[in-house]
Amino acid sequence: MSKTILIFFGSPGSGKGTQADLLSQKTGWKKISTGDLLRAEIVSKSDLGKRAEKYVNAGKLVPDKLLIDLVAKSLKQKAEGFIFDGYPRNIKQQNDLSNMFEKCLKKNDQVLSLLVDVSDKEVKQRLSQRRVCSCGSIYHLKYNPPINNGVCDVCHQKLFIRDDDKPKIINHRLKIYHQNIKPVFDYWQQTDKFIKINGEQPIAKIHIEILEKLGKRNS
Ligand code: AMP
Repeated sequence: MSKTILIFFGSPGSGKGTQADLLSQKTGWKKISTGDLLRAEIVSKSDLGKRAEKYVNAGKLVPDKLLIDLVAKSLKQKAEGFIFDGYPRNIKQQNDLSNMFEKCLKKNDQVLSLLVDVSDKEVKQRLSQRRVCSCGSIYHLKYNPPINNGVCDVCHQKLFIRDDDKPKIINHRLKIYHQNIKPVFDYWQQTDKFIKINGEQPIAKIHIEILEKLGKRNS
């Protein structure tokens, strides 16, 4: 059976992670989020985690070569499809990924890309109100607040602001994002495999639009 590989693009805070989760639940395709994989490495204090930590906490890109094995290992999982969230972030990573695809994909497998398009103004507003818990739960003070102020609904630990969601770091992350992603978009825009979705709509509506564009609405 042929596989689908979908690469999600979108600025930090565009909601692409949420959409990737919803799509993964609907299709069974496995999500590969390099941000999640790196945070897990940091928590487990692995060698990679120790090397990546300073970059992640500063909102800087982790060196490309540290990510290749992590991504290649994820691609070896058994699945009907994969959804990339947060990789590639620059043209070098795009080339590394294309090389991995050449090695492990079959002729009928399909690779598509999808941009969840959100303005920088909206991103800044969203990220400054995000709160997270070490159990992995994510809240938004306005749109998805915890029941008790500052406390996780799931495990009752204290919520915190991710270091990389602090305003100065958000600005830096956005600048780096735009600088690095432009050549990747230039690459995808030359193909007929680039889908663009308006990310400034309610979550459920964006999800439906994604399913429609992928021809998955009624499957
Ligand atoms: P994210 O959860 O996707 O926002 O990623 C959080 C942080 O992990 C980023 O700010 C980077 O420090 C690091 N990171 C995640 N994915 C990548 C990537 N593809 N290349 C370099 N660094 C990454």
